[in-house]
Amino acid sequence: MRYAVLSDIHSNLVALHAVLAVLETEEIHSYLCLGDIVGYGARPNQCCDMVRELNAVCVRGNHDEAAVNPEKAEWFTAPARACILWTRQQLREDNLSCLGELPLRRIVDDTITICHGSVLDPDHYTVTPVDALLSFREMATPVTFFGHTHYAEWFVESADGQLPVEHPLPTGGSLQLRPDTRYLVNPGAVGQPRDGNELASFAIYDSEAAEIVIHRVAYDIAKAAKQMEEAGLPEAMYARLWLGV
Ligand code: ZN
Repeated sequence: MRYAVLSDIHSNLVALHAVLAVLETEEIHSYLCLGDIVGYGARPNQCCDMVRELNAVCVRGNHDEAAVNPEKAEWFTAPARACILWTRQQLREDNLSCLGELPLRRIVDDTITICHGSVLDPDHYTVTPVDALLSFREMATPVTFFGHTHYAEWFVESADGQLPVEHPLPTGGSLQLRPDTRYLVNPGAVGQPRDGNELASFAIYDSEAAEIVIHRVAYDIAKAAKQMEEAGLPEAMYARLWLGV
């Protein structure tokens, strides 16, 4: 099976189209989506529609949750909260109820789990090897895909008593999976990368080849930013797209 793994689209339809244009040239059997379909960007309905059209196996992110339950946005920064309240006003009822029905984690098959922040908690940022250890303790499959930090990277489990080892991949690259070894993999963000690389990020997992490749693809940032400006969204939220932060 060849899986396309997308995370943190964040209503950035321009970036999503660029990613899907690359994926159209690949043989893909199944789409996985790690949450935060909405929040920040200017095209929430179109991004929800696209994820639904792809029949993606999907989990709910903290921004999807806050769009459905705005009291969850109390913890957000002021600009992020402004974005999510605008998003809620824009979302059609069918998309709101779709987001509300998404599970927080999902075992896709006997090899893959998907979640947003960590295996236990969609709000937890998996940044350090200690954070990764918490997910490894709960994992029931050899590979878990997570998002939320918007960094493309992977962690590999170590021997008992040792911390997992972190491998950042901010410019993309591949990971060859070893048998009897467990991995936590973040494909990076489609719609708002924060690893210092402004290019949209996603992964392809080829289970037969036991290989995961993280791809970075250019998109028209000016167009995405213009859409946000026209929607009246906070400038800080589109200025950061050029910086990849
Ligand atoms: Zn996010």
